[in-house]
Amino acid sequence: MKKSILQTLKSEIQGEVFSGKEFRDFYSVDASSYKIVPNVVVIPEHEKDVIRVIKIAKKFKIPVTARGAGTGLVGSALNRGIILDMKKFDSIKISKDHAVVGSGVVKGNLDQRLGRVNKFFPPNPSIGSFCSIGGMLGNNSSGSRSLKYGSMIDNVTEITFVDGNARKITLPENKKISNKIVNLTRLIEPGRFPNTTKNSSGYRIDKVRTAKDTHKIIVGSEGTLGVILSAKIRIKRMPEKKILFVIGYESTHDASRECMEIKRTNPSAIEFMDKFTLNQIRFRFDRDTECLLYIEYDENIETKESKLKPVITGKIIKKLEKKHEIELWWRYRDLSLHNSLRTIKKERRIPHVIEDAAVPLSNLPKVFSLLDKINKKYKTKCIVYGHAGNGNVHVRLIADRAKIKIIKNIAEEYFDEIIELGGTITGEHGDGLARSEFVKKQYGAKNYKTFKEIKKIFDPDNRLNPGKIISKKSTVISNLETLY
Ligand SMILES: Cc1cc2nc3c(=O)[nH]c(=O)nc-3n(C[C@H](O)[C@H](O)[C@H](O)COP(=O)(O)OP(=O)(O)OC[C@H]3O[C@@H](n4cnc5c(N)ncnc54)[C@H](O)[C@@H]3O)c2cc1C
Repeated sequence: MKKSILQTLKSEIQGEVFSGKEFRDFYSVDASSYKIVPNVVVIPEHEKDVIRVIKIAKKFKIPVTARGAGTGLVGSALNRGIILDMKKFDSIKISKDHAVVGSGVVKGNLDQRLGRVNKFFPPNPSIGSFCSIGGMLGNNSSGSRSLKYGSMIDNVTEITFVDGNARKITLPENKKISNKIVNLTRLIEPGRFPNTTKNSSGYRIDKVRTAKDTHKIIVGSEGTLGVILSAKIRIKRMPEKKILFVIGYESTHDASRECMEIKRTNPSAIEFMDKFTLNQIRFRFDRDTECLLYIEYDENIETKESKLKPVITGKIIKKLEKKHEIELWWRYRDLSLHNSLRTIKKERRIPHVIEDAAVPLSNLPKVFSLLDKINKKYKTKCIVYGHAGNGNVHVRLIADRAKIKIIKNIAEEYFDEIIELGGTITGEHGDGLARSEFVKKQYGAKNYKTFKEIKKIFDPDNRLNPGKIISKKSTVISNLETLY
């Protein structure tokens, strides 16, 4: 008698295999508005299990999707078929400037281990300690300090993964595959890539300059090219001191316009919070404070106030130098998403498709004008905060739930204009279910064809997280969680 997929997995995998309803339900959601119930959940014990799962998935022709901590905001880790929870890949080896980490390592554990040797790993999503290295690589995550230190793609030097052909590959070490990728770089149309300091849309072949960069193609690939086993990451010495200025503005336009000049003073972060998010802070702001900029420096801090003051028109509300105070005010900023979601009523929630665009910094004020235009036209409201120094604006759109279909029109219009401004449809959260259908719009037909060639090298049968990045279907308002 032919064995079922479940029997095959259970007999051939040393790790755990679950098919009970409660497990499948647990893995059917992440931090997005979407829900897809998988058939089976596997927690692989070691790399041989990962290779076997992919071989079995090929045999049974079902998808395999890697999952980290499930904190993604656009459903990137949701799919039918097999979900691979990589949590047992949790080894951490620290050397002077690098660490080699398993993809299941949770950011908080890494931070603790590095803290003991006075080091840190720069990318810092606001979700804090919960996300995993695999998910951060999958989405090309970043955070507030990416202004100075870059995103995941700028902080990783080697990746080992298992591709859709069940081959274990290390890039850039593998010359044959590296050469194939380098050859594809000749086909790209560079003018169609966004002119931004961070970008999590599509495959980042623009970052592959030589055969030494080929691992970067895996960063931001959302598990569609390979299941990451481990990565070599750059670590930095912890700054001795930091200083954080909280600046109040009466106009969003002034705050966003001044970011260019502020950036010239070399801050480690420039963050934005609108009226709604600042109102969640336990502090009495002046009534006319419309928004805040957080400006942090982590070197030469003694000289920074005199450099900052001449370039801002906003009011310095707080100048913080004590560690615990700085941490408290960052916590307020990091809670922006949580606070915004918490306060939007269920019937006013629509999928957060336009939530993560980034533009060249000089165009940041235009994004706020664009949002005003959209709100007027579609009778929506929005909560806005984000990584202003990178021109990266997070938007929580509020609209009548009954009008859910307008989200697609809003997305088309918003993304057209963001692309026109030289921007990206996603600066750090990835394409996922919310944005994969717009990847072609972002990059144009020629680059999209090259993306398909990249996919073919690593996953010719489309087994790995199908429907993400390369996508034929519209999934913006499909598979929504009933709550939404
Ligand atoms: C409150 C809140 C705040 C956030 N703030 C930020 C922020 O400031 N900056 C930011 O960048 N993001 C932010 N995010 C988004 C999210 O937390 C990050 O993208 C995070 O890095 C995802 O990690 P994860 O382990 O949860 O990944 P998951 O959601 O589990 O997966 C994300 C993607 O990575 C893939 N993946 C996971 N593991 C592997 C692997 N081993 N091999 C291959 N692919 C893999 C998945 O298939 C999926 O496509 C925030 C989310 C929340 C809920």
